[in-house]
Amino acid sequence: MHAVRDGDFWSSASSPENTGESYDLVIVGGGISGLSAAHFFRKAAGDQSRILVLDNHDDFGGHAKRNEFQVGNRRLLGFGGTFSIESPAPYSAVAKGLIEELQIDVPSYSRFFNKDLYRAQGMRRGLFFDKETFGADRLVPDPTTSHVGETGDHAKLDSDLWKKFLTEAPLSRRGKEDYQRLHQEKKDYYPGLNSDEKKARLARISYAKYLREVVGVGDEVVRIYQAFPHPLFGVGIDAVSAQDAWGLGLPGFSGLNLAPGAGKGMNRDAIPNEEAERYFFHFPDGNASIARLIVRSLIPKAIPGNVWTDVVSAQANYSQLDDGRSPVRIRLNSTVVRVKHVSDKSAAQQVEITYVTAGKLKTLRASSCVLACWHVVIPYICEELPDQQKEALASAQKVPLLYTNVAVSDWKSCRKLGVNSVYAPGSYHTGFNLDLPVSIGGYQCSQSPEDPIVIHMMKTPNRPGLPAREQHRIGRAELFATSFETIERKIRDQLARTLGAGGFDPARDITAITVNRWPHGYAYEYNSLFDKFWLEGGEAPCEIARRPFGRIAIANADADAYAYTDCAIDQGYRAVQELTRKS
Ligand SMILES: Cc1cc2nc3c(=O)[nH]c(=O)nc-3n(C[C@H](O)[C@H](O)[C@H](O)COP(=O)(O)OP(=O)(O)OC[C@H]3O[C@@H](n4cnc5c(N)ncnc54)[C@H](O)[C@@H]3O)c2cc1C
Repeated sequence: MHAVRDGDFWSSASSPENTGESYDLVIVGGGISGLSAAHFFRKAAGDQSRILVLDNHDDFGGHAKRNEFQVGNRRLLGFGGTFSIESPAPYSAVAKGLIEELQIDVPSYSRFFNKDLYRAQGMRRGLFFDKETFGADRLVPDPTTSHVGETGDHAKLDSDLWKKFLTEAPLSRRGKEDYQRLHQEKKDYYPGLNSDEKKARLARISYAKYLREVVGVGDEVVRIYQAFPHPLFGVGIDAVSAQDAWGLGLPGFSGLNLAPGAGKGMNRDAIPNEEAERYFFHFPDGNASIARLIVRSLIPKAIPGNVWTDVVSAQANYSQLDDGRSPVRIRLNSTVVRVKHVSDKSAAQQVEITYVTAGKLKTLRASSCVLACWHVVIPYICEELPDQQKEALASAQKVPLLYTNVAVSDWKSCRKLGVNSVYAPGSYHTGFNLDLPVSIGGYQCSQSPEDPIVIHMMKTPNRPGLPAREQHRIGRAELFATSFETIERKIRDQLARTLGAGGFDPARDITAITVNRWPHGYAYEYNSLFDKFWLEGGEAPCEIARRPFGRIAIANADADAYAYTDCAIDQGYRAVQELTRKS
């Protein structure tokens, strides 16, 4: 695709081989959106409708990716991408309907989740101060209780933890005072303004600036919070509005008396919603289980099993995915490079799809086509789209992420240090967690500190100080240029420095590493600091981008600028509705 983007592809391409294949629907992109589109199309058009899903990767599921490890005689699973069924807003009837059709029993989650495993061992979240950023390497318990994505009272104090934190944190006296004040002060920094006026101010100022210029804390505290929004936004507090920081439950707002409820221009990730928070389910391989369940329903032989829980341990049979006897087929390692109507779009009865597989260019035809791939790709493969739509598609900048899974022989060092999760604002990976303890469908999670486990580490490469889209572009280039060797060295160094005092030895304890690079990760979500239309109203680019075009409809989570599984499902559904309503 990069050769297509750079204009080098077609000049050296040989003429495509016509496979003679013809389908009712071809879907470009085998992520959750494309797989959902296949599901909904089959429901609308009947079980015998012929559907082909094409994806450039060697696996289906897109972001919903599974990692497997063998440690001794134990098989461990990890999520290489999508973590769980969760969304800041409630699942729509359509998305919930699909989850229910797959028979996933979301409310039963507590039956599988060992919620007290770490707490019972006295473990909690730690904060790692690194020498390069804070002058000394030090792991201290985090005295605040909440994590990004959870609503919580940051001012809730545990005095022993605070004492320990203030004694051990490598901060100056001013830094410690600032940190404490930020959490405890209940001052109205905008006297004379009402709640809406305050929110409007907060929507236009970054949290970093708010901390520095309004609350008046020094750089040390800003550095502590810099990477806090990375897991949701992919950028730090320099590029997240103070209003969004308030929504995420970050400190500094308790004296402002802001009315509950979303303010204008809030990022969708920052709007708390109790109903949405209750709808949560984590499979050991994340939402790869959803992708596998959809594939099981489309091509039963590919994913053996009978009940939703056994999908976790099922061995996929990839040779069944593209079998000519099945009405639904999934063809992997197939990069689509051109999609066009056969003759003028108003008269065309078919769409021609050209793709590359094993270095060969091939074509096939379909009555309709859903583009469920990333929007930035579409202008390059579908040249007949109007320029305004191409521009809107191209603006769907993807958020780059690095999800690293490290299998270790035990977690005794973490237990000794009292941490199951570490926030490390200055380190290469800005956080890591011991695997969420979920046992399901014959899969047993790690139960005791002597057992092997997967440590999940995450990083979002970015360049603070620039507009968010630009930060993502630079971060993606960094991911592309960084070798596995470099990343491995960073992992070993970071885990040794963080957990070494508990006895962790990377040479002895690390048994395997899988690095999941997501240069084209989250869908870009609109941000009041950079997207005027989001703050002031007007048509969002994603609405222009997803307009149907002849026999082509456009899905993917990009189509609603919302980086969640439910969005991918909803957009797959909408795209199919547009096509089936027409025919
Ligand atoms: C690391 C990570 C963690 C996440 N965690 C969560 C979470 O916990 N909960 C949640 O709800 N959401 C989460 N999300 C978001 C969620 O995973 C996505 O919104 C959703 O899975 C996107 O599905 P999709 O089908 O729209 O896109 P994708 O999954 O990106 O699928 C698009 C597919 O199209 C393929 N493609 C692109 N170009 C071409 C081409 N030219 N030819 C053929 N194929 C092509 C791509 O390779 C890809 O496989 C996460 C996302 C990431 C990246």
